[in-house]
Amino acid sequence: MRKNSRTYGELSRKDFFQGAGSALLLTLLPRVSPAAEAERIGVSEVAPGIFVHGGQDALVNAANRGDISNACCIVGTAAAAVIDTGGSYQVGKALFEAIRQITRKPIRYIINTHMHPDHVLGNAAFEGVGAEFIGHHNLPAALAARAESYLRNARERIGEEAFAGTKIVLPTKLVTDTLDLDLGGRSLTLKARPTAHTNNDLTIFDSATETFFLGDLLFSGHIPTLDGSIIGWLKLIPELMREKAARAIPGHGPKSTAWPQAILSEQRYLETIARDVRAMIKDGKTIDEAVASAGQSERGKWQLFDEYNGMNVTAAFTELEWE
Ligand SMILES: [Zn+2]
Repeated sequence: MRKNSRTYGELSRKDFFQGAGSALLLTLLPRVSPAAEAERIGVSEVAPGIFVHGGQDALVNAANRGDISNACCIVGTAAAAVIDTGGSYQVGKALFEAIRQITRKPIRYIINTHMHPDHVLGNAAFEGVGAEFIGHHNLPAALAARAESYLRNARERIGEEAFAGTKIVLPTKLVTDTLDLDLGGRSLTLKARPTAHTNNDLTIFDSATETFFLGDLLFSGHIPTLDGSIIGWLKLIPELMREKAARAIPGHGPKSTAWPQAILSEQRYLETIARDVRAMIKDGKTIDEAVASAGQSERGKWQLFDEYNGMNVTAAFTELEWE
């Protein structure tokens, strides 16, 4: 047989022809390479061993089943870690199956960047894999307080059938300050952050590729959403910017983006809201008047502006009126 160095995954063409007829080998044939297969199912390798699935810039609905946020898989020589799991069991399961196309390494850690349902409701799909679920020390209480409404909303928005299997899976390991995880050949540093996007935001830094995973502390393209503290978030941004990184992975937006440049738009948006709302409070305006006009100079600069700007202004007003 003619020698041929082309490979199909770990299988050489020669081996394939010698084994022709074997059902096992036939199932391996389409796997041109793990990276190409990952791309086919919507997961991109943005740096060596860093795979990112990009969620849609949309509200949760029946068509997207809660697939509206970014989810990541980091593969070391010994183990893999997953960051966020999508907004339903089905999205988590699709992510799990995609990861299984990429690596057979044990999935040792499921890390949730924060409490929001589009980042945690896929956790149940990873329950049987023997992984530790990791989150900010405030995450269990935050999720417990919102579990009922998160599940009810998800069921209503994605429909009963697509919702099946979805439940809250709480973290089993908590981060109070920082936590290092060794995946073999690379370590992840997890940091619990003070209240900003929520009161349970966690960031992750990969030592091997200097990739900075910010969860929803970084929105890019998709309008930022405020569910923690605008004062806290604006105070945290300069601290985040001091982290040296080769790239950043936002919770919503592109699969990979330039750091720290990517956070400047978010900073401008939050500063605009804070400035507008403070001025209106000073002028004795009501919250409804603020919702109608604060932040309007940012219209057209963000996806989903009309869906979230009013809620952000309401949250900012409620916080800033007590200054
Ligand atoms: Zn969020």
